[in-house]
Amino acid sequence: MNEHGLSRLLLGLASEDTEPTTMPTPSCLPLPRFRTALLREDWTDAEQRHKAGCDVCRQTEAQARRQVWHPSLLRLFWHARGLVDDADAARHLQTDACRRCQRLSILLQADRLLARLATRVRQRAGDTATRLGRMLASGASALLAPASSGLRAEQPFAFEAAGHSAVLLRTAPPLLRLERPGNAQTPVLLRVLLGDRKDVREQFTVPRPGKEPGGLHADLPLERLPAEPLTLALYEVDAAVLGIEEVSQLCHAFAAARKLDPLAVPAWQTWASHALKLAGLDAAVRPALEALTRPAAGAVR
Ligand SMILES: [Zn+2]
Ligand SMILES: [Zn+2]
Repeated sequence: MNEHGLSRLLLGLASEDTEPTTMPTPSCLPLPRFRTALLREDWTDAEQRHKAGCDVCRQTEAQARRQVWHPSLLRLFWHARGLVDDADAARHLQTDACRRCQRLSILLQADRLLARLATRVRQRAGDTATRLGRMLASGASALLAPASSGLRAEQPFAFEAAGHSAVLLRTAPPLLRLERPGNAQTPVLLRVLLGDRKDVREQFTVPRPGKEPGGLHADLPLERLPAEPLTLALYEVDAAVLGIEEVSQLCHAFAAARKLDPLAVPAWQTWASHALKLAGLDAAVRPALEALTRPAAGAVR
């Protein structure tokens, strides 16, 4: 860039900063309101209308959204299960009344795998707490907000972390389509929790290589179209924590994947053969994983 171009660019930046539209007006919302409304999701119609026409308030909202603090999935889970005394998490959920974290707490509390692991942590069984911590640290969450015009054919979820994406497809049966970054050589077992106003569904899936290099893809069938708003949480499962309790869910998830998406079968089989090499694998899980790795397991019956 020549000197003339550079000074034009700098002038352009400076004039953007001082544009009158970036100054708050008397009708703009007070700063503390952004935080409470973001946490409680209770914008009034008048506030929504003002934001729609005001750049300043939209910018302030985006900034407040970036600054707002939420406890990690692990802290939410420990708190929900009463395993630790976490004053910050308690204040956030009760006094601040964060709707996002309240929904995630319900989701995490409904997960039977996590519930079983929490019991083992209470009994101080082995290194369960460490494994559980790692699993939830791998987690991500998203929200499907109610659409004013009803559910579209492909309704996207809003993820908080970059890289993940999910859409709800209005097919028969309805599908949850996940895309995430990952390595095709070392497939991972994902726990997927999906909750609407009435109930929480828990499923397993092993994402397989997608169209984009470095991207993984999974389709999860749903029994029915859930009601909105929907919260989605997913985390990677350490195969060493699986027990007899999870075997039927695993077999069910594999059978569903084989029927729906034959490309997922090799990913499941690679995951299972890796898991079979784990020293800590539960003996009760072993036969199910061995059955899954047999070549015939991939054939659609
Ligand atoms: Zn404003
Ligand atoms: Zn929160």
